[in-house]
Amino acid sequence: MPAGRLAAALLAAGLLAAGLLATAPGGGVSVVRGVLGVLGGGPPASALAQQSPPPVDYRLSFPVPAQRWLAAEVRFDDVAEDPLHVRMSSASPGRYARHEFAKNLIEIAFTSAGGDPVEVERRGPAHWAVSGHGGGVHVRYRLFGDRVDGTYLGIDATHAHMNMPATLVWAEGLEDRPARITLEPPAGAAWRAATQLYPTGNPLVFTAPNLAYLLDSPIELSDFALRTFTVADPSDPAHRPTFRVAVHHAGSASAVDGYAEAVERIVRETVPIFGEFPRFETGAYTFIADYLPAASGDAMEHRNSTVLTANARLDRDRARLLGSVSHEFFHAWNVERIRPRSLEPFDFTRANVSGALWLGEGFTNYYGALVLQRAGLAPLGATLDRFTRVIDTVARGPGRQFRSVVEMSRMAPFTDAATAIDPTNFGNTFISYYTWGEAVGLGLDLTLRSRSGSRVTLDDYMRALWERFGAPDGEPGAGVPPGIVTRPYTPADAEAVLAEVAGDPAFAHEFFARYIEGREVVDYAALLAEAGILARPVAPGRASLGDNPFGGGMRVSRPTAYGSPLHEAGIAQGDVIVSVDGTRVTSSPAVGRLIRDKRPGDRVAIVFRRQGRETETTATLAADTRVVLVPAEAAGGDLTPAQRAFRKAWLGSRQ
Ligand SMILES: [Zn+2]
Repeated sequence: MPAGRLAAALLAAGLLAAGLLATAPGGGVSVVRGVLGVLGGGPPASALAQQSPPPVDYRLSFPVPAQRWLAAEVRFDDVAEDPLHVRMSSASPGRYARHEFAKNLIEIAFTSAGGDPVEVERRGPAHWAVSGHGGGVHVRYRLFGDRVDGTYLGIDATHAHMNMPATLVWAEGLEDRPARITLEPPAGAAWRAATQLYPTGNPLVFTAPNLAYLLDSPIELSDFALRTFTVADPSDPAHRPTFRVAVHHAGSASAVDGYAEAVERIVRETVPIFGEFPRFETGAYTFIADYLPAASGDAMEHRNSTVLTANARLDRDRARLLGSVSHEFFHAWNVERIRPRSLEPFDFTRANVSGALWLGEGFTNYYGALVLQRAGLAPLGATLDRFTRVIDTVARGPGRQFRSVVEMSRMAPFTDAATAIDPTNFGNTFISYYTWGEAVGLGLDLTLRSRSGSRVTLDDYMRALWERFGAPDGEPGAGVPPGIVTRPYTPADAEAVLAEVAGDPAFAHEFFARYIEGREVVDYAALLAEAGILARPVAPGRASLGDNPFGGGMRVSRPTAYGSPLHEAGIAQGDVIVSVDGTRVTSSPAVGRLIRDKRPGDRVAIVFRRQGRETETTATLAADTRVVLVPAEAAGGDLTPAQRAFRKAWLGSRQ
């Protein structure tokens, strides 16, 4: 962009911020920043400002959105800190890998509040120490962003889709200050904002009570479709939070209606699990959905909102999209308010490591599926197919040899949207805490139901966690800063609550020791049988070389699975299989045909080529242990009354 136009754009982005009246969160306190305070350059003179520092002021504009950048102007006024440490985040809550958001800065400049030069020392990739500012720092920057998902910044001609840690700079020491954010859509654009930020009288001006809440509040600025509904709180019918469904999409209005109706069914089916809604600070919860060709598949939880993105169409892909809706909405309780101590307070400057993601993400994943089933939004077959994949991944995953689900949770900084240029061996060393945690949730739910005649369930456990750790923060005006969880739980708490709910500390201790801190797998077949669901072998008696490690042709394209016949025979990544059992092979289906009539334990000769040389080895075939879950009635059986009752209590609607 030519320098002249840039200067004009920056001018358009700023300097108009003078003299606005900001309503502080909570509604009561107003802070007036005098016009002279801005234009004249000195700190605000009013006595009010002395008592209560002015909010950090952000102004975001999008003069040329098609070129995918925004202009930001930030005012830190009444600043005692010198140097003032200005930072851009390197982490975003709900994403566990490090993300260097500062890499997309096009340019950044610092002055005093009056526009005078200041001394700036770059202390780190995303850290500027600003000194000699005389009590106020003014930051202007332009930032590129071209990814529409739950983590990054995405701007184009149709919208600005903002995750705040990827968008805003902030200052150390001012974390408790309120913030005000003014949005300036491009000239002529009919863009509105969907966000959990606190509204003001101006639909393009919002506030946040503190930095944690601000950075937790994504904004979709576009001409989105909006549907709203309210649902009475089962514990207090006078409490009727509003649910907003903001959808930026390319489909029909009727598709939005159908989607919003399904979202409402999910909301209604989720709340009975906890018995009440959280007290959403602004009285509303916002679903921000971007279903666009340019969107990446993602979903991210926030305290009073969620961001859902996919390259999908509302009409065609609804079933797939709703799984993310139910998962993320469950997070309004679990993770956003029932929060592990390892993630609270969240450190925006580094990767946050937690051993509790099996509960925060894994149990949420389990309920994402369960709520869809209970709400009638997923057929039983689809739910069982999902549980089949979950159980199979965990039961047969080589990673279980090395780590528990607690330790897998701590891998998140390496695996959760982390990118690196060196190859990994995660196929052998990692099992997702989403998947394994879901398996633990399923196993614990079925175990609790089995041992109590369906009187005690995982719903009771989640509700008890909510009452101990989530609900206390839910009451607004109780002196708890919004966005801060004051009673996070520890691993010992999670076990103690299970002991209480189950009425059996020995059971809770054993379950944690074997399946959560340990690496054992629950006996799903026995438990599912109580619900009239069979774990049927996929290929009974069949022999197997293990999971297919081939890319194109017979080249082994990734590390062979530890413990698999190919691995134990010494086959490694890069080898090309030439023959099996004396027959030349060119495709993996041909290998399947060659061993079809063999038995587990049989030995087959394998010739492979490695770095130009052919070598022969012998593989001992394993049993194919895959199972598939099927309803007994679909397998020609009948449900007993006890099975029917067990299944209904588990999978039936709770509304
Ligand atoms: Zn999640």
